[in-house]
Amino acid sequence: MTELKGMRLTDRIGKTPLIRLNRLSDETGCEILGKAEFMNPGGSVKDRAALGIVRDAEAKGLLRPGGTIVEGTAGNTGIGLTVVGNSLGYPTVIVMPDNQSQDKVDTLKALGADVRLVPACPFKDPGHFVHQSRRIAEELNEKDPGSALWANQFDNVANRVFHEATTAQEIWDETNGEVDAFICAVGTGGTLAGISRGLKAHSADVTIGISDPTGSALFNYFTTGELKAEGGSISEGIGTSRITDNFADTVVDIPYQIPDSESVPLVYDMIRYEGLCLGGSSGVNVAGAIRLAKELGPGHVITTILCDSGLRYRERLFNREFLASKGLELPDWLSV
Ligand code: PMP
Repeated sequence: MTELKGMRLTDRIGKTPLIRLNRLSDETGCEILGKAEFMNPGGSVKDRAALGIVRDAEAKGLLRPGGTIVEGTAGNTGIGLTVVGNSLGYPTVIVMPDNQSQDKVDTLKALGADVRLVPACPFKDPGHFVHQSRRIAEELNEKDPGSALWANQFDNVANRVFHEATTAQEIWDETNGEVDAFICAVGTGGTLAGISRGLKAHSADVTIGISDPTGSALFNYFTTGELKAEGGSISEGIGTSRITDNFADTVVDIPYQIPDSESVPLVYDMIRYEGLCLGGSSGVNVAGAIRLAKELGPGHVITTILCDSGLRYRERLFNREFLASKGLELPDWLSV
């Protein structure tokens, strides 16, 4: 019998399909294509950052066999690191702010991560989840030198390097180099920074947009030079008050600010008309792609990211009381 060569789980991260959003493409006269990152093994775009960081740390000798990976995360990076860690033999300690969807917390626990919930607070506060995760890794390394890796997804540029090498290249190849524009929101900035670099290296003519949710400081940064945030958003994993090392020096041609009143109805449209159940950040990305299509005009190929599944936010995106508290409404098929 010939030897069967199974694929490794880590080989299934990336190489996601670029899905044509039919209704929006037909309406705008552009080809609007979404990279189906929810199809990654851990269910989100953050599997790429997780694998990029782990492979980089292994290559640099920063993660020994069986070593513990520690990270502060809104959830998806924790899930990605835990999936990758489980398959490669690294346990994970995941520090999360306590204002994220319960589904993500439950998923992490089900996967066997050591989950530590901490009160949500501003980045400048020493109690912020990112700082707490760094201290946990430091303490583990004090007790047993070299036993822990702090993944540091916000400022560890292995995150954007992986997106440049994989996501950007895949988009270029899948569109036969005919991509005119790319747009997405920023959390760590790894996705946008890597894709901006990767696509611009192929062609300086590719337009790069940022879809910034209300409550994030980047729209003001690109329009006025000031890192200033106003309002809020129910989207998770995106929006920032600072320029991370991953996002620093990234070329962005067009900034948009996207309120929930624009992005959340698009999440429901994606279900109803495209058969895609996506999370709130994908709604922000798609809203940006539509604005870009209108600005560039018909005949352009516009790409974005479909980050994760809406089922990860069931108790928020499909919850009448929660939505009403934010001035939002259920889709018609649930509102009867
Ligand atoms: N969408 C979701 C659902 C996420 O969890 C994240 C990561 N925090 C992003 C978008 C943003 O990706 P990045 O960190 O690469 O900017």
